[in-house]
Amino acid sequence: MNAEKLRGLGVSSGIVTGRVVVLQSANLPVVPVPVPPERIADEIERLESARRKSRAELQDLRDRTFQVLGETYAGIIDAQLLILDDPGLLRQTAQRIKVGRISAAWALKEVVGEYLRKFETIAEGAFRERGGDLQDVHLRLQRILRGDVQGGENLPEDQPLLIVAHTLGPSDTVMLTRKNLAGFATDVGGKTSHTAILAQALSVPAVVGLKDITQRVRTGDEIILDGETGTVTIRPGANDRMVAERSRLRLAERESAWVAVETTPASTLDGTAVSVLANIEFPQEVQKALAYGAEGIGLYRSEFLFLARSPDLPTEEDHYRTYVELADRMAPAPVTIRTLDLGGEKYFHEVLGPQESNPVLGLRAVRFCLQRQDIFRPQIRGLLRAAAEADIRIMIPLVTTTDEIRQVRALIMEEAGSLFAAGIPCREDVPVGIMVEVPAAAWSADILALESDFFSIGTNDLIQYALAVDRSNEAVDYLYQPLHPAVLRMLKFIIESADRAGIPVSLCGEMAGDEEMTPLLIGLGLRELSVQPRAIQPVRQAIRKLHTRDAEARALKALDLPTALEVQEFLLAT
Ligand code: PEP
Ligand code: MG
Repeated sequence: MNAEKLRGLGVSSGIVTGRVVVLQSANLPVVPVPVPPERIADEIERLESARRKSRAELQDLRDRTFQVLGETYAGIIDAQLLILDDPGLLRQTAQRIKVGRISAAWALKEVVGEYLRKFETIAEGAFRERGGDLQDVHLRLQRILRGDVQGGENLPEDQPLLIVAHTLGPSDTVMLTRKNLAGFATDVGGKTSHTAILAQALSVPAVVGLKDITQRVRTGDEIILDGETGTVTIRPGANDRMVAERSRLRLAERESAWVAVETTPASTLDGTAVSVLANIEFPQEVQKALAYGAEGIGLYRSEFLFLARSPDLPTEEDHYRTYVELADRMAPAPVTIRTLDLGGEKYFHEVLGPQESNPVLGLRAVRFCLQRQDIFRPQIRGLLRAAAEADIRIMIPLVTTTDEIRQVRALIMEEAGSLFAAGIPCREDVPVGIMVEVPAAAWSADILALESDFFSIGTNDLIQYALAVDRSNEAVDYLYQPLHPAVLRMLKFIIESADRAGIPVSLCGEMAGDEEMTPLLIGLGLRELSVQPRAIQPVRQAIRKLHTRDAEARALKALDLPTALEVQEFLLAT
């Protein structure tokens, strides 16, 4: 059979050839099967045995997640263990088997359905969020009742394993437990999808937006996953394998040069120092950031703490401990913690309440936090306590108005007052900066600068909002143009506004990690960039090749060019 090539969006780099495990995301149909009275006891025992097996699987999953990602993430599994241990669920199912004389699978489906309906009527809070975990536990029990083994169980342990799924949710951490896990490919998703971020954090390649890969491959098939070109080759031939191996070696060579050979900060040829910091999602990534020579953490996406605690919300103590641990590992370098950026296309929809018709323009980030102070205040308290012990900065995402900065500062003062009153050490004058990632914020940067301690430009969102292109929709990917004149002009204005106000300005969108952009960004006046750890060295190399004056002159010319393509050609040609 001929090889088949699917094209998607490469969101985590690397090239790997391996065997597929297709994660069953859909609920297979369950039909009612009558059970004769003499077999009722056996059927109840089958249910009990499925519970024991599920428990063993989940415990194993917990142990392996702990080894890979630590206690915080292993805690995800606890919610499912609790559901499984709930005597009510099993008792009611057994009762239904007895009374209705029906199969365990059907009885379980009915009981779970009732639980889910009850959860839905509870407007808010942890119960509503437990629905996802209950669904997961249900799928696991149904699979075991059907007699199916876990996906990929019989595949050899010595070959790279590639997870194929429609999309990945928090509870799909199951795949992290495979020692030979080597990559992800999903039907849907964008650059900032959960899959993309998990894959980058785990340093495995990923391709998303493949539309129907779950229909085209079966568990056990061989594929080549290329996170560089965003392609998947199904049932590759000898030639495909050879080409992939060559690209893999080339990439591996390039990557080994990226690990910091020397961790000294970079300066341009004429002596302009430029700091390069790291963007991270998991506290464990600090290790990676240090290995690549980061001068600090420029962006910690704290919403990932929600993944660790889902379905519960992180407590003040969770925030405090995570930030202190992060800062301790990074000390004496600074750590910038971004407050919760939930909502939009981010994947923690569960805590956000009813679906919005335009979530990217909706109740997201600081807007959400200011409305849900029950979620925001514990984070502020955790941050203020951690800041008493470490070099921590607070960064507010998606600021649109000065009023939002004032409201956050007022909350900080209130919480600091309450911590002082309780005799708990905290630092109330912690630096508070903002992400500039909404065009309104960009064009009022001179005003916002007066009330911010620093700026960090979030080009991922700024481009999305400025050009009206959904950053996670591969269909309009061609319009996602970091070099569009509108973007460059906004960058210039933001940087000049920060300079005039005398506050530091950094850029932490993906654009900062593209070394081809480095001359332009330095030319526009940036002296701090925050990038994926693996991009630190290439960006530093690019900085070291530059003359600041030349870069500035070229940036000025680029600002006058009419199209993104012309800007790109101009930057490459000079
Ligand atoms: C950005 O928008 O550029 C950014 C860095 O934040 P995120 O990708 O998490 O929205
Ligand atoms: Mg953003």
